[in-house]
Amino acid sequence: MRVNSIIGRDMAVDLGTANTLVYVRGRGVLLDEPSVVALNEATGEVVAVGHEAKQMIGRTPDSITALRPLQDGVIADFEATEAMLRHFIARVHRRRYFAKPRMVICVPSAITPVEQRAVKEAGYQAGARRVSIVEEPMAAAIGAGLPVHEATGNMIIDVGGGTTEVAVISLGGVVTSISIRTAGDAMDRAIIAWLKKEHGLMVGERTAEEVKMTLGSGFPAHQEPVGEIRGRDMVSGLPRTVEARAVEVRQALEEPLHAIVDAVRVTLDRTPPELAGDIMDRGVVLTGGGALLRGLDDRIRHETGMPVHVADEPLTSVALGAGRCVEEFEALQQVLVANPRRF
Ligand code: ADP
Ligand code: MG
Repeated sequence: MRVNSIIGRDMAVDLGTANTLVYVRGRGVLLDEPSVVALNEATGEVVAVGHEAKQMIGRTPDSITALRPLQDGVIADFEATEAMLRHFIARVHRRRYFAKPRMVICVPSAITPVEQRAVKEAGYQAGARRVSIVEEPMAAAIGAGLPVHEATGNMIIDVGGGTTEVAVISLGGVVTSISIRTAGDAMDRAIIAWLKKEHGLMVGERTAEEVKMTLGSGFPAHQEPVGEIRGRDMVSGLPRTVEARAVEVRQALEEPLHAIVDAVRVTLDRTPPELAGDIMDRGVVLTGGGALLRGLDDRIRHETGMPVHVADEPLTSVALGAGRCVEEFEALQQVLVANPRRF
């Protein structure tokens, strides 16, 4: 029991732009919260993190700011990221008197070495004995059950909040990858812009995200939903409701959808022919919260001619993949980004 609880504390963290998940060895995903921090403006103190902080977005008094520290896939606010990470880890890691855990942290592949160090530092601050970094597409591929160690090309498309990452993996390494700052958030912004322009209606980020989830899509389907969108009239300033059809929302999403498909095409273009052949045969895996957009898989299939499979649990595959790295620390050592020892 005691031995178990010591082993059980190694953990993996999926530090996403929209959501942070913490996986604890032997236990599974124990924390899944929005990557949001609310800070006291005057003192810089953390008022809330996660769900509680997300509720506060757009509703804070002047003395408090609720922010997303990993805007657009880069660390927009260093200190807030560190504070958020420390709070989340402390939540699943209360018993400090046990041996210090090893920790695997997944980061967007576009973050700089300096930012990587900051993330690691946050892990050490939170009580880790050793922190390893694993690139998100690698963790996503492992989590989705792809045979990353084999000599075959595997393509993973991870559509998150701030970034879309497209990567080709073979023999335990990333062969080519692209990260663009167009993903779920860009879709929300496109919906906000469309409602403003076409309907003179103002809506917030939360509403736009809801519209995306209920009415949004990437490709036409037989039965398409119609829905009502509530916002504020730009002229009168009063609440108003407009009726919207799926096809209009899809039109509104055209730009971000196009950018995502383009990133897939460019990655395929840069892939060595043998691996590209494997991918055409085996298909690609679509993951990240954006994979849940209706018809995004059909859209990519239609435009690239490749088979597209949506991961079983797009929102957790990165955390599960990183979790596999802590369960099988030794076996999966080689996928971890090499790091010098810390003194
Ligand atoms: P990250 O790894 O960057 O934190 P996630 O993989 O957690 O991002 O995905 C978050 C994104 O997925 C958000 O933009 C969210 O709006 C979007 N999302 C979640 N569910 C759906 C859905 N059903 N349809 C479309 N988008 C979705
Ligand atoms: Mg992610």
